[in-house]
Order: sequence, then structure tokens, then C-alpha cells
Amino acid sequence: MQQVIHTHQLCRFFEVGDTKVHALDHVDLSVNQGDFVAVMGPSGSGKSTLMNILLPLRYSDGDITISTQRARKLLDRLGMSERMDHRPNQLSGGQRQRVAIARALVAAPPLLLADEPTGNLDSKTSIEIMDLFTELNGEGQTVLMVTHEDDVAAYAKRVIHMRDGKIEREHLNAAA
Ligand code: ADP
Ligand code: MG
Repeated sequence: MQQVIHTHQLCRFFEVGDTKVHALDHVDLSVNQGDFVAVMGPSGSGKSTLMNILLPLRYSDGDITISTQRARKLLDRLGMSERMDHRPNQLSGGQRQRVAIARALVAAPPLLLADEPTGNLDSKTSIEIMDLFTELNGEGQTVLMVTHEDDVAAYAKRVIHMRDGKIEREHLNAAA
């Protein structure tokens, strides 16, 4: 099984005045190729800090021609090709989210990272976005997303619970 990420005792501290915030406190995390992981936990538990440390994974190959072709294909795939020339303010929340996903996927990242991908979406659109993640994952795309909604986390294969910068527990979703 090929590992996409492996962290060993990962720490990140922020100095705020006299206090030291342990945003990430000795986190051991492995994500394998083909995983679909949901990261849950209360506000301030370190979810976004973890995602941001994994940002370097969103690299681009820098070839604009290839990227544009890939972008067109992805938008087509996501049912967005007719809106290729629309401005963001002409798109619904769900359509904007699809564009954001296409933008993330255009660089063919080893890992698709999504922090609260259904955060501002209604239930129907959230289900569409999660169906899309499931489909991409079914094609081999490795996915790591942050969510605080149980029904969104239910789409993932693995659910990691964070608290106070630590991985508190983890479980597998039998149905996913
Ligand atoms: P979550 O995404 O789970 O809500 P965060 O990763 O955003 O949590 O934050 C974890 C902790 O680190 C919180 O206590 C937050 O206040 C603190 N924190 C995050 N980013 C910064 C920053 N840039 N400066 C100071 N403290 C930060
Ligand atoms: Mg956050």
C-alpha cells in the first residue's frame, strides 16, 4: 500500500501573547493511496492547521496548455462546461464549489484536500458534492476532507477525530 502522507509526531505551535497554543500536538497520521479520510473535531482542534501543513501537496506542473485542457475536461466532468465563461457571481454555491474542486484537481494532486467542502451548501448540493468525491475516490483519487457534519463524514472510509491538536480516535466506516 503506497503512502501519500506520513507524519510522525507532527507539532505546530502558535505564540499568542504569553500563551503557546498547541495547534498540532504530536500527530501521527498516515494516508494511503486511495484512502478517503474525514477529519472531524471541535472548533480549534487543529483541523485547518493540519490541512495547511499538507498545502505543498497542491503543486502545479506549470504547463498552462495542459492545465487548461485538463480544466476543460474536469469542468465537463463536473457538469460545468456550459458555465465555463461565467463569472463567479453568476454561479450558485454548489457550482462554485465544483469549480473549486476542478481547480484543485487540475494539478493532479496526489491528495485532494478539502476543508469543510460542504460548509455553506444546502443538503441537496452537499450530497451532490459528496457523490462527486465518492466517484473520484472510486477512480483512485485519494481524498482528505475536514467536516463537522456526521452525515458528510459518513461518505469517507476513515474518520479521524481531533481534539486539542491530537488525534483522539479513529474509526472505519463499514458502509463506505
Ligand atoms: P480548527 O480548524 O480545528 O477549527 P485550527 O487549526 O484553525 O482549528 O486552529 C487550531 C488552534 O490553533 C486554535 O486554537 C487556533 O486559535 C490556533 N491557531 C490557528 N492558526 C493560528 C494563527 N495563525 N495564529 C495563532 N493561533 C492560531
Ligand atoms: Mg478550521
